[in-house]
Amino acid sequence: MMDTYLDHAATTPPRPAALAALQQWIDAANASAAHARGQQARTAVEQAREEIARVVGCSPHDVVFTSGGTEADNLAVKGIVWAARDSRRAVPHVVVSAVEHAAVREPARWLAERGDARLTEIAPGPDGRIDPQQVLAAVEADTVLVSVMTANNEVGAVNDVAVLAQALADSSVALHTDAVQAFATRGVDLDTVPLDALSLSAHKFGGPQGVGVAILRRGRAVESLAHGGGQDRGVRSGTFPAGLIAACGAAVVAADADRDGLVERLAPMSARLAEGLTALDGVRRTGPADPAHRLVSHVHVMIDDVDPSALVLELDRAGLAASSGSACGSGAVRASHVLQAMGAVGTPLRLTFGWTSTEADVDRALDVLTDVIARLRAGDAAGLSFAPHPASH
Ligand code: PLP
Repeated sequence: MMDTYLDHAATTPPRPAALAALQQWIDAANASAAHARGQQARTAVEQAREEIARVVGCSPHDVVFTSGGTEADNLAVKGIVWAARDSRRAVPHVVVSAVEHAAVREPARWLAERGDARLTEIAPGPDGRIDPQQVLAAVEADTVLVSVMTANNEVGAVNDVAVLAQALADSSVALHTDAVQAFATRGVDLDTVPLDALSLSAHKFGGPQGVGVAILRRGRAVESLAHGGGQDRGVRSGTFPAGLIAACGAAVVAADADRDGLVERLAPMSARLAEGLTALDGVRRTGPADPAHRLVSHVHVMIDDVDPSALVLELDRAGLAASSGSACGSGAVRASHVLQAMGAVGTPLRLTFGWTSTEADVDRALDVLTDVIARLRAGDAAGLSFAPHPASH
């Protein structure tokens, strides 16, 4: 039986251009070496840097390569707070939204726990969006950092980061946004939305896993988290992984070139999936009602009267890869901090599209979910009409 993959927000497959670049540079020499092979690798790294800078609208000097979105977020949050702590007597104050990915939320909380920062978290509205005016009202004299994600990874709610950028443009407060989920379908334009720091992760837009980008605007002090050979202007030491970086650059270019077409392809698909699911009893769409305020790639629903663990198991058995929200280490499903903050009730299910998605995925997802939900409610998980997926356990 064919797998139906609707978990692109977790990882989307690499694009051909990214795979070609990875293959070309995976056996590159050390890009810091003086010999010709090293310099060739360096050229590939710098070319990727320039392409990324051109696409997102910043200087190549602002581009710092990381191991992914998590490191980019940690670098922005800890790096900016620690740099500020060194230059002031008061404990730096940080404002983050309560729906941030753990890669922002946890470092911010960790800094607060150890006394390196004071933290204010801004709750979302019931649609998962953050009110920029509430964020701005929380800014104090000692605020050094505001971090609000461009789009939420779970429900796909898009925030008005441009309003924050405009309001904080002439202040000493650094504005960071996690644009990891937004880049594929919304893009980033730092020419029109000036920010101090921004995070990207290649495997969310057709690049490989294990590489990301921290855009750190020059002039904003950032403490390094990785001291060593001094690569990337001393902010992030470590041998440049030329293959991953070249592939990240190629994916940025390909995703940018394909964005309009992708949005056009995905809009009717996600609308049809959402319509089909919400036509079922006790299934509600989560997140903003206005398509302008949510990612076209995300369909998130809350389902009544279905056990979360059983749902995950049965979808996997049916060969439908989706996300249940938040799974903890034991494999059990628990309500995510995002859904709790939104006050959403029911069993969460996230279905996310990407550049390889087709209308057939929508057909199959609707068939599987209609069947699974009905059978789970009837207490008949074992009698599913779909044969167990060979890869499931
Ligand atoms: N930020 C957001 C919004 C994400 O969705 C993710 C990944 O799920 C990350 C950060 C972490 O990125 P990475 O997996 O590259 O560390």
